[in-house]
Amino acid sequence: MLDLSQMKALDIDAEHRTAWAQTGLTAGQYTTAAGAVGLATGFGDTGSVGIGGITLGGGVGYLVRKHGLTIDDLLAAEVVTADGRLLRVDDQRHPDLFWAIRGGGGNFGVATRFQFRLHPVSTIVGGMLILPATPEVIAGFITKAQAAPEELSAIANVMPAPPLPFVPAELHGQLIVMAMLVYAGDPEAGERAVAPFRKLATPLADLVRPMPYPEIYPPEEGDYHPTAVGRTMFVDSIDRQAAETILDHLQRSDASVRVAQLRVLGGAMARVPADATAFAHRHSRIMVNVAAFYDGPADRAVREAWVADFAKALRQGDAGAYVGFLGDEGQARVRQAYPRSTWDRLAAIKARYDPTNLFRLNQNIPPATEDR
Ligand SMILES: Cc1cc2nc3c(=O)[nH]c(=O)nc-3n(C[C@H](O)[C@H](O)[C@H](O)COP(=O)(O)OP(=O)(O)OC[C@H]3O[C@@H](n4cnc5c(N)ncnc54)[C@H](O)[C@@H]3O)c2cc1C
Repeated sequence: MLDLSQMKALDIDAEHRTAWAQTGLTAGQYTTAAGAVGLATGFGDTGSVGIGGITLGGGVGYLVRKHGLTIDDLLAAEVVTADGRLLRVDDQRHPDLFWAIRGGGGNFGVATRFQFRLHPVSTIVGGMLILPATPEVIAGFITKAQAAPEELSAIANVMPAPPLPFVPAELHGQLIVMAMLVYAGDPEAGERAVAPFRKLATPLADLVRPMPYPEIYPPEEGDYHPTAVGRTMFVDSIDRQAAETILDHLQRSDASVRVAQLRVLGGAMARVPADATAFAHRHSRIMVNVAAFYDGPADRAVREAWVADFAKALRQGDAGAYVGFLGDEGQARVRQAYPRSTWDRLAAIKARYDPTNLFRLNQNIPPATEDR
């Protein structure tokens, strides 16, 4: 394992709205520094995630509909390849490698620095909105999120209410919709955009407010590392029936934490051609992640069976998967992260830059061999 966590240099060029960032930075650290000058690059929903892994996988977060995936703001990178060269890659230099690292994960080398585009994002209207978990609220939430302006990106976590101070005690352990909303634009328009979500039902807690964008990543406990199993997938719609399926499966489990996370996609992310980067799921409409915490091997088997059954019940026409949320699920699942043409192109680039598969302890794309 290569530990890059000490590599945290960040060089922000506020005038040209770009930043060179070493890959030991976390999303939260980068966002705080960029936020100090009113700028942002979109990462995911969690500040402690490293910019290395999330960028190489694609990066789906709070600015996805407004500004696209993290890779859509990647202008260049520095990559140490298997033969020990330090390459500068961008549209002009090693464009094949630049294409591959935008979704192909850590297969092609060690990314030491990224150059990102920054956007003016200062005050957002965002935060947590907790609603009762009924089929109508879940399906309605998705409909509203799809109809919302692109400035608004929304994530709905259907899960048992955690014992947070602002959640009434009688709700702890009951299923709720814990939504995260971010409207990146004019605050007044933001208030209008979040109003339909507040009207879905009387909120159980409403922390949505104008705030500096970096506050969307609250401080986290440093040594909290729960074990979890999960399945990631894409679906086309969450109607009332799908919402009932979600509630039914969540009710049937007694895992301490269990969740169905729904992320509405589209917007800027969907306007990038599917073959422009190695992340090809540009037209997928909703990302679903189902997950459960487990405690020890016997419990893991129980939770595994539950997530597999849950994912099967939700499966629709979209067979793809997001590589960033894959666990240790085997080669067939890695292949689902890439359509055939993307996979073949990645395997050919892998053969060029890492013919011995030195970088294989990952969601592995083996190098193409001549007889394939
Ligand atoms: C709590 C949580 C929330 C998340 N939320 C989101 C989200 O909202 N959106 C989203 O898109 N993803 C999300 N993810 C998934 C996340 O993007 C991936 O797990 C990602 O791989 C994490 O990267 P890391 O650098 O933190 O992890 P690491 O464990 O350090 O890296 C994971 C793998 O990525 C590769 N890698 C990482 N850095 C480099 C590098 N510099 N060079 C080469 N290879 C590298 C390696 O193969 C490594 O094994 C979340 C993950 C967690 C744990």
